[in-house]
Amino acid sequence: MAKVKTAFFCQNCGTQFPKWMGQCTACKEWNTLVEEVIQKEEKSSWKLASNISATQRAAKPLKVKEIDSAEEIRMNTLDGELNRVLGGGLVPGSMVLLGGEPGIGKSTLLLQISLKLPYKTLYVSGEESQKQIKMRAERINPQSEQCYILTETNTQNIFRQIDEIQPDVLIIDSIQTLHTDYIESSAGTVSQIKECTAELTKFAKETGTPVLIIGHITKDGSIAGPKMLEHMVDTVLQFEGDRNHVYRILRANKNRFGSTAELGIYEMQGSGLREVANPSEILISHKEEELSGTAISATLEGMRPLMVEVQALVSTAVYGTPQRSATGYNLKRLNMILAVLEKRAGFRLGQKDVFLNITGGITVDDPAIDLGVVAAILSSDQDLPVGKDFVFAGEVGLTGEIRPINRADQRIQEAEKLGFSTIFISKYNKITYKSSGIKVILVTKIEDVVEYLFG
Ligand SMILES: [Zn+2]
Repeated sequence: MAKVKTAFFCQNCGTQFPKWMGQCTACKEWNTLVEEVIQKEEKSSWKLASNISATQRAAKPLKVKEIDSAEEIRMNTLDGELNRVLGGGLVPGSMVLLGGEPGIGKSTLLLQISLKLPYKTLYVSGEESQKQIKMRAERINPQSEQCYILTETNTQNIFRQIDEIQPDVLIIDSIQTLHTDYIESSAGTVSQIKECTAELTKFAKETGTPVLIIGHITKDGSIAGPKMLEHMVDTVLQFEGDRNHVYRILRANKNRFGSTAELGIYEMQGSGLREVANPSEILISHKEEELSGTAISATLEGMRPLMVEVQALVSTAVYGTPQRSATGYNLKRLNMILAVLEKRAGFRLGQKDVFLNITGGITVDDPAIDLGVVAAILSSDQDLPVGKDFVFAGEVGLTGEIRPINRADQRIQEAEKLGFSTIFISKYNKITYKSSGIKVILVTKIEDVVEYLFG
């Protein structure tokens, strides 16, 4: 038995210290240092466990001209939403972490993708038994002939099975359940997560096999390891959504091989997660009559135009201090818009409660939603409905001017495609798209919009 060494790890950021301290000097958190047993062996690689002979590829310098500029090879996952978020498919040898709160459906998503993948896939679960997984898999169609399920938590055993099956894609559910023989502390601790991830990374890079890892992360990120994990992988995907909502959003927080602006949307159904190809339709509540306090905004998520519905409720404050709340929209920005409406457009909103909500449980960062927010607030305040086939896209400035937004043509096109009759856009936007089915109204300041809507 080799001699046991111990060290202290910050449970928040994973930094290693030789001695205990009250405060982590790296992330400044208090009481996060925990002693863990480490036993650093030089050759703690995945290769020790199996006999896979990976070719030793020592890198050598190349002239820029000599570097192959061809696009990265991508493995099509046959899941349109996942492909888009990854930047066109799985990159061979890449490490992908799928994070999210427990119960959000991470296992369902990856099991479903495993069953669909046109590659030989090994799905390793330390969370559920093979029978439980089989029961879940039976609800999902179609089923791939090439998907193997393994219930195992020991990485050395996993690598032995990999040697046997030789999968093209490896899926781990979840990293918190894994443990390696080279570390003596228990599964889920920082040192175990770190070492297991290092072994999987080595395997991925040496064999060119993409590895998808599930990592449970609570809202405040308090579970040991995730922050450190994010640094160790190539791509970090976040699966989110309110558990009460039927929709789930997949986004990339980090992507070494693509943009982080793309978004994937799924609908949770009895048979699994359904890809939502046209998200605009689900984000707009279909109503027969015109109601006050709602307005549709043409926003962009990544490269994709997205119509979202903004709902506002403005009422006289019952108590002294008016309440302000925003769901899916920045509260500071809401306060700024209210101040602009008061100061520049003469609306008395200072003594009123204002509640704002973006339907579908999504959060919008695109400043183009401002104009829709203004329309919804004024509509509720005046108790006059905004035409239900009107769409808004414009940023509101401090002086009440409507500022131009990016990709106006694309937004107009999408609104036209979805059958809206009128779109409000800043006059300062250069529009080249020749629309035939939609009226484009160019506005310069809030008053123009007010005049048009309620004038
Ligand atoms: Zn720390």
